[in-house]
Order: sequence, then C-alpha cells, then structure tokens
Amino acid sequence: MRRLERLEREARQAAAFRGHGLGPFRAVGSGRWAATCRTCGATAVVIPRPLPNETEIFGAAVGVNCAAGNGRPSLPLYEGVQ
Ligand SMILES: [Zn+2]
Repeated sequence: MRRLERLEREARQAAAFRGHGLGPFRAVGSGRWAATCRTCGATAVVIPRPLPNETEIFGAAVGVNCAAGNGRPSLPLYEGVQ
C-alpha cells in the first residue's frame, strides 16, 4: 500500500472515531491532501513527506468531535462545561 493511501486510511479512521464522515481526499498543493467532513465541514490533512516541524496527519476532523449538524466541530475538552 502506498504511503498516501495508508495515511488517508488512518485519517479516515481517526475522523470516523470522532463522528466525522469524510469526503474524498484531494490534492491541495505543497504535497498535502485534504478531506472535508460532509456533516460539519471540519478538515483532515495528510502529508506523506512531512517537514521536521510537521505531522503526517492533522486537522480538526482528527482532533475534535463532529458537530453532528450544528455547523461547527465541538471541542471534546469542553463538553459538559457551561
Ligand atoms: Zn464532522
């Protein structure tokens, strides 16, 4: 399996764990590929050959839970805090 395919699979699984349903990954330049959640618009980005100060996978879709339709991702750290 190509490195890009593996990273896309990992990003898709991580996003799904947080409730996101990612669309297809598309090249966005600078050696990066990005996909957007169909529900909340959060993105996941993969970089097959990251620079030393970058990570292979990042983005709101792998870091915060899906908003489930309210228009923006929710921050799990603050769930339940008024
Ligand atoms: Zn989402």
